[in-house]
Amino acid sequence: MSGQTAIYPWQADNWRQLCAYIQQQRIPQALLFSGAAGQGRRDLAEHYTQSLLCHTPLADSSPCGHCVGCKLFAAQTHPDFLTIEPDEPGKALGIDKIRQLIVKLALKPQYDAAYRVVIIQPADALNNASANAFLKCLEEPTERTCLLLISEQPSRLPATIRSRCQKVACATPAREVAISWLQQQGVSEQTELLLTLAQGSPLLAKHYAEHNMIQLRQQYFEAWWRIAQGKEHLLTIAELWQKQEKLDLAVVLRWMAGWVADIIKYAYRADSPAIANPDLKNALQALAERLELKRLYRFYDNVLTTKSQLNTQLNKQLMLEQLLISWSQLNRQ
Ligand SMILES: [Zn+2]
Repeated sequence: MSGQTAIYPWQADNWRQLCAYIQQQRIPQALLFSGAAGQGRRDLAEHYTQSLLCHTPLADSSPCGHCVGCKLFAAQTHPDFLTIEPDEPGKALGIDKIRQLIVKLALKPQYDAAYRVVIIQPADALNNASANAFLKCLEEPTERTCLLLISEQPSRLPATIRSRCQKVACATPAREVAISWLQQQGVSEQTELLLTLAQGSPLLAKHYAEHNMIQLRQQYFEAWWRIAQGKEHLLTIAELWQKQEKLDLAVVLRWMAGWVADIIKYAYRADSPAIANPDLKNALQALAERLELKRLYRFYDNVLTTKSQLNTQLNKQLMLEQLLISWSQLNRQ
């Protein structure tokens, strides 16, 4: 977010909790922001950060936007604002990053008038060694320093870390709140479907709208459908998907898992709202009528296993080929 940070309409309760810390001048040393991605946890954490860095916050604890603290933050050059992130998405947060942090925290914050803030995201990317080292930051608090941990899977954090953090639980907004926000943002077409595809996360839905994700997903689905019909060369598709830079394979596999889950639901005669892909109903229902349930379950597991192995050293092209081969075989029965 550039310049002045802001909070989203569905974050009012979270913001009240954070404001209370500021107004009571009881800033927790560590906060754990949890909740699904795509609903603005990072923006909320940054808004709170800016308030802590601001030298003259407003009466409601919002950052003023004009002081030196706010200006440095907006320019992304504030010396008392640090971020700890993996070098690449999906990689671990190594111990070297935490060692560097410990060295930096040993010094005083540069501005006396405000706090120092460290954002660690995703906090669950800490490995055993770095989590142990990080524990030292929590056990030996440094002056006017606030550590903000952001995690989609807080249960993966060691209990020793979790127990030392105050919790900020960011819930997925109610559907009507998300829809009305999306409309205000100019997303006027297929809003419901976008939000369903984004599993209720409004920012992700907006991102999908801006990147024509519905059309892209349709293309992927059609290729998958043609493989089922034996009308597509699956090695070509695997190569094409592997090379597609616009789209992360994890997203494609999440879609695929959603298609298979819907086929299984149709096999049980389930209907909306349990269905995640209402626009593909006819095709998925047709597959439900002819595919064997037991093998569908196995294929579903297969998709999830492949997805979980994306960040390993295994060859992605090969994994994808194997997955599409088993999809093709499932359809040949
Ligand atoms: Zn300010």
